[in-house]
Amino acid sequence: MDYDVIIVGGGFAGLATAIAASKNNVNCLVAEKEKELGYPVHTSGGSWYNEMLQLGLDESLVHPINSIAFHSPSGETASASFNDQDPYGCIINVRGTIQFLAMKAAEEGANILPNTKVISPILEDDEIVGVNIKSFGSAPKKVYSKIVVDASGSASLITRKLGLKKGKWQRYGIGAEYEAYVPLPDENHVDFILGEKYAPAGYAWIFPTGKNRAKIGVGIIRPDSRKNPFEYLKAVMHHHPNVSKYLKHAVPVEYHHGIFPCEGPLPKTVLNRFISVGDAAGHGSPLVGEGIRYALQLGYAAGEIAANAIADSDTSEDYLMQFEDKWRTQVETNFKIALEIQKRLASYSDEDWERKISMLKAMDFEKLIIFLNKLKGDL
Ligand SMILES: Cc1cc2nc3c(=O)[nH]c(=O)nc-3n(C[C@H](O)[C@H](O)[C@H](O)COP(=O)(O)OP(=O)(O)OC[C@H]3O[C@@H](n4cnc5c(N)ncnc54)[C@H](O)[C@@H]3O)c2cc1C
Repeated sequence: MDYDVIIVGGGFAGLATAIAASKNNVNCLVAEKEKELGYPVHTSGGSWYNEMLQLGLDESLVHPINSIAFHSPSGETASASFNDQDPYGCIINVRGTIQFLAMKAAEEGANILPNTKVISPILEDDEIVGVNIKSFGSAPKKVYSKIVVDASGSASLITRKLGLKKGKWQRYGIGAEYEAYVPLPDENHVDFILGEKYAPAGYAWIFPTGKNRAKIGVGIIRPDSRKNPFEYLKAVMHHHPNVSKYLKHAVPVEYHHGIFPCEGPLPKTVLNRFISVGDAAGHGSPLVGEGIRYALQLGYAAGEIAANAIADSDTSEDYLMQFEDKWRTQVETNFKIALEIQKRLASYSDEDWERKISMLKAMDFEKLIIFLNKLKGDL
């Protein structure tokens, strides 16, 4: 079993890599440990409407959001509304999007193996030449390739084994979320709840996806707080003075949880014959825990660069540094600023949030959101 490119993980980054690599005429394999691509869901899917369409998503997968509110623990609220030209958010259909990307990758010629766990790299002269895989119910196999792309998310499997990520993530967001039947007054509006009482060192969210369906979640930053987000989920739904009015009638139909690395990008993400991308490489903005857009965009870049390397018969680290140059130029500074802001916000007490939200109410909140929007970086 030989491929030009083997991709570890069939999430956003892995499938974007597969689409771009296959489009550029290299044969690639995506190995995904789960039985179904896009399941279980471990992300909320909040993103930016126009950018998601530009990144190739179908409109049917993208639920538009045009207003936002921040709530303090006591119920102070600052809110803003936008039109098409301003920051215009969306909540994507996560499972639908992953399946859509998988179909696109297959259409471009990629081979996808669900139910196939990558166990370890195969090394020759200290260089990666393939991976050991195991599909449930069959014997382990060796698969060889000219380039391996690690898109295994926060597991960072091959990145760790090759020594580019040492130890566990020290700073990360941990999230617990219900997807629920819940009739909301406005299905194009998102709510964020701040403060220790409902989301210590983090925030809670309500993300509607349309047709009386919404995601209700709590994310907490480690190591700033060791609290369990699941326990706060119930507090938000039943006790927050503003949102509990409708959330207390929510009927959960799914439960999601996951972790999001928040340390900023790894110092090094390429080696000879190897690229690390997406959460595996720390490619997400720590500010609000946004990683999908970066995983897609940098996944496409990784696939294209891998395909060029193969066409030019040069899979050296020097050649693959083009990938690293790309993300450094486009997002490194934004990620660093976002991390500093996140650390500051994570230390706010309930009283701090009461004061800040009162201040936001008094000022031009729309303008602030437009400013924050700039921090997301133009990819
Ligand atoms: C609770 C929560 C809420 C979030 N909300 C948002 C949000 O609203 N908006 C946003 O932009 N970002 C959000 N994020 C971040 C976002 O989910 C990630 O940044 C994004 O999923 C990264 O994509 P990825 O492809 O790099 O990794 P993943 O989506 O994690 O995909 C990795 C894939 O690799 C597979 N895999 C892992 N190990 C192996 C192995 N050994 N062999 C084979 N396959 C393997 C996994 O099963 C998975 O399918 C959230 C994260 C969490 C935890």
